[in-house]
This record gives sequence, C-alpha cells and structure tokens, in this order.
Amino acid sequence: MIQPAPAKLNLALHVTGRRADGYHLLDSLVVFARHGDAVEVVPGASALTVDGPFAGDVPVGADNLCLRAARTMGTGARIHLTKNLPVASGIGGGSADAAAVMRALAAQGHALPADPAALGADIPVCLAGQPARMRGVGERLDPVPEVPALPIVLVNPGIPLSTPAVFKALQRRDNSPMPEPDWHDADSLIGWLGKTRNDLQPAAISLAPAISEVLTALEGQGARLSRMSGSGATCFGLFDDADSAARAARALARPDWWVVASELASGPVRGYTSTATV
Ligand code: ATP
Repeated sequence: MIQPAPAKLNLALHVTGRRADGYHLLDSLVVFARHGDAVEVVPGASALTVDGPFAGDVPVGADNLCLRAARTMGTGARIHLTKNLPVASGIGGGSADAAAVMRALAAQGHALPADPAALGADIPVCLAGQPARMRGVGERLDPVPEVPALPIVLVNPGIPLSTPAVFKALQRRDNSPMPEPDWHDADSLIGWLGKTRNDLQPAAISLAPAISEVLTALEGQGARLSRMSGSGATCFGLFDDADSAARAARALARPDWWVVASELASGPVRGYTSTATV
C-alpha cells in the first residue's frame, strides 16, 4: 500500500527557549498540505529506491530517514520513496517520509518506536498526521480547533537551508509563546495567525535573502497571509479560493522556484487530490 507523506507546514512557529542540552523549545501550529512525498513499504531485506523530481537530492544510503525509521522499529524493509518535496526546505520532507514508513510498518504488525522524537523533532507530529499545537522539542502535541481546508500556494526559492544553521543565526531564543489557539473559520484563523510569527523567519532571511522576495511575491498575488514554514526556505500563502491560488501559482512560476498550489488538510491525509506543480 502506498502511504502519503504530506508536507508539514508551521503556520506559526515561536521559539520560546533553549534546553541545557542545546535543543530549542518551540510553540508551533503544525498543519499538513494535500501534497507531498509517498512511500511504499514491503517486507524484506533493507533496500531503498527513490524516484520523483527531487530524488537526486536525498541520500540513498543507510542514513536516509526512511531506512533509519525502519531500523528504530527493529526491522528491515524494502522501501520505495517518491520524492516530490524539495529537500532541506522547512516542510519536513524527511520527517514525513520517516513517519510514513513507521505507519506502514505499524500496519504490518511492528510496534511503533517508544520515542519517535529521537529520530527528529517533527516525527511525532508527522506520525499524528493532523493539525496540532506542537510544544517542547516536538514531543508535546495538543489538539487544536478544526483548521479550515484553505487553498495554499507553496514556494521554495531553490536554496536549501540547514536547520542547525538557521537556529544558530537566531538573535533571540526566549520569545513569547503563541496565544491560545482560538478560531472557528478561515477569517478567524487568519486573524489569529496575525498575532503569531515564525521566529525563524528573520534568521533564515539573513542567510537566504530570496525568502523576502518570495514573501513579497506571494503578497503581490493576493495571499491573505504569507509566511515561511519551519526553518525555510519554503514559504506558504493562504488564499480565499482554489482559483485564486491556482492563478497565483501560475503567475509566480520561475525556472529557479518550486511552486505548488494545494490545500490545507483539515484531518488525516489518506491520499492526494489533484495539486498543481508549476
Ligand atoms: P524540517 O522542516 O523538519 O526541519 P526540512 O524540510 O528542512 O525539515 P528535510 O527535507 O527533512 O529538511 O531534510 C533534512 C536533511 O535530512 C537533509 O539534509 C537530507 O540530506 C536528510 N535526509 C535523510 N533522509 C531524507 C529523506 N527521506 N528525505 C529528505 N531528506 C532526507
């Protein structure tokens, strides 16, 4: 069976502290897009094959997160990964892939790892697979009000950003937490998001100024809110309707940018609907 590994988006991401061991404490609203990678997991000796537009950018050896996920569950597996998401781009592709492998192996009778966060901060939320408030170092997940299925446009300027490098460039690590999640429709969600931030955005822009250009371009195409996800450089724009999102995606197309029109998932993503990659 093919498991979707949807792109993770941090609609808001506050950096609220740092533990003695160096890990950062976060407070983030995490949602998923109806677009992403896909994995197929078959019992057998460990092996990984990769195809898809970004196949050339992922390590295919034992350090691939798909194979590492299987190892943490004490088993090997034959895995095929379709890599549709740009690598090192703030939308958690590797974590989504690892979580999808874990889900597939769990469906085949293997026990999930006791501490999935040990493999990556975003893995618990990717395993949960639905909108959540994520705190601590990624291990603390709380439910949030239903997130409306808003049309989105994702844009990556083609510059990979290392997560540790972005955290290192942070000016402040003791920022305020997010306000209490409180919305009941698209307007109130966008209003609530207006009171939040991505604290990693200025640090990422200092390393990759093209992010500012992407955010300005999304606003210029009518996004109601545009922001960077995770440690970047992928940015998202929220739109009123699917037609405006598709139009914006077409207008934003550039040879060096990855641009996708999709939709936020209100609940678990079981498969992908049609999405436009420009
Ligand atoms: P996050 O938003 O969780 O910080 P990201 O989108 O910035 O993640 P990933 O695409 O998950 O970053 O890639 C992070 C690193 O993991 C890359 O340097 C890549 O070489 C490595 N990696 C290992 N396995 C995978 C995989 N299956 N897919 C993508 N990257 C992988």
